[in-house]
Amino acid sequence: KLRSLDEKRRHALNKILDIKGCIRVFCRVRPFVLTNKRRIHEPISVESEKIVVKSGGSRKEFGFDKVFPQEASQEEVFVEVEPILRSALDGHNVCIVAYGQTGTGKTFTMDGTGDSPGVVPRALKELFHQASLMSATSFTFSISMLEVYLGNLRDLLALKPSGRSYAVSRCNLNIQTDSKGSVEIEGLTEVQISNFTKASWWYTKGRRVRSTSWTNVNEASSRSHCLTRITIYRLGDAPGAKTEVSKFWMVDLGGSERLLKTGATGQTLDEGRAINLSLSALGDVIAGLRRKRGHVPYRNSKLTQILRDSLGMTFLLLLLGSSNESLLNSENTCDGSKALMLVHVSPYEEDVGETTCSFTFAKRARAVESNRELQVDSKKLKERRISELEEEMREAEEEC
Ligand code: ADP
Ligand code: MG
Repeated sequence: KLRSLDEKRRHALNKILDIKGCIRVFCRVRPFVLTNKRRIHEPISVESEKIVVKSGGSRKEFGFDKVFPQEASQEEVFVEVEPILRSALDGHNVCIVAYGQTGTGKTFTMDGTGDSPGVVPRALKELFHQASLMSATSFTFSISMLEVYLGNLRDLLALKPSGRSYAVSRCNLNIQTDSKGSVEIEGLTEVQISNFTKASWWYTKGRRVRSTSWTNVNEASSRSHCLTRITIYRLGDAPGAKTEVSKFWMVDLGGSERLLKTGATGQTLDEGRAINLSLSALGDVIAGLRRKRGHVPYRNSKLTQILRDSLGMTFLLLLLGSSNESLLNSENTCDGSKALMLVHVSPYEEDVGETTCSFTFAKRARAVESNRELQVDSKKLKERRISELEEEMREAEEEC
C-alpha cells in the first residue's frame, strides 16, 4: 500500500515536472554575508517568481520557475530540487547545474557547510532513503567525480598517495560517444556506494583532492567546473527484467564573470577563456535547441559533451516533438531527461552588470521550455513568441 502511495506521488511529481518543462530554471539570491563589497542600495527585489532589477534609472523583470530570496534556507532549496531526484530514481537522466558569478553561493548551494548541508549531501541521503522505500526494485549506486579545467578532464576519485594526503592520478581523460549516442568518459573511476556514509566519504574526498591540488581554493572554484555523477542501476522484480541505468549529474560550474572585467593575463587569461568558452558553449547548445536547428553544437566544449546525455536527450526529444505532431502531443516528450539550472546572483549594486548577464543566460535556458508551454498554440503564434523572446534577449545581451 505504502509503495503504491509513494509511486502515485512520484508519478504526480513527474507529471508536474513534465508540464512545467524539462529545463527548470531557479534563481537564488545570495544574502549580504561578510564581504568587502559595499551595500549602498539593493538593486534586486524579489516579487514571487519574478526578479526586478533596478539600475541607472532602468527597470527590468526576469521570470523564473522558482526564486529563492536571500533568507531562503538550504532545506527550502532542497524541497524544490527533490522532484528531479525522484525522476532519477525512476530511470531518467537528470542534471542539476549551479550557474553564476564567483562568490554568489554556487558551492554553498551544492556542498553547503557542516551545519547547513547543500544539495549534493542531501540528495545522496535522499537517494538511499527513497530507494529503500521502493521494495519492488533493487538499486545499486555508484559515484564518479571529475573536474574540467582548461578543457582537460581530471578524475577526482583516481587517487594516489601524496605526502600525508592524496593527489589526482588521472588527467586528460577522453570523452567517447557510443552508437546509441550515450556519452562515456574513458577510464573515469566509478566507485560503488552501498550507503550514505560511504557516498559522502567519497564525495568529501573528491572535493578535498580538488581543493588541495590548487594553491587557492577560491581560484580553483572560479576557474574550473566540478561534476559529480551518480549512476543508478535499477532492477525490477518482474521475471526477465533487465537492469536499467540512469545518470544523475550535479554540477558546480566555474564563475560566469566576464573575462574583460578580471583584467587577466597569460595563464589566467587562458583559464578565463576556457571557462568562458565552455559556458558560452552551454549557452549555444541551449540556443541551438531553442531555435530548433538540426545541429546542436555539443562538441564545442568538453562540458557540453559530457552533459550531452542529460541535456541532450531531453532537448533532442523536444526538437523532434516540436516538428512532429504525434510526438508533440504525446505525454512522453520529456521522457529522456530533465535538467535543473540554479542561477545564483549577487545582491550588490556593483555586480548588477554580471547579474543581468546571468539573467540573460537563464532566459535562454527558459526559452526552451517556453516552446513546450506553447505546444498547443498555432505554429504562427509560437514563432511570434519566439521572435519576441529573441528580441528581448538581444536587448539584454547588448547591455552585457
Ligand atoms: P561561489 O561558489 O559561487 O563562488 P560560494 O558558495 O563560495 O560562492 O559563496 C561565497 C561565500 O558566501 C561563502 O563564504 C559562502 O559560505 C557564503 N554564502 C553564499 N551563499 C550563502 C547563503 N545563502 N547563506 C549564507 N552564506 C552564503
Ligand atoms: Mg564555488
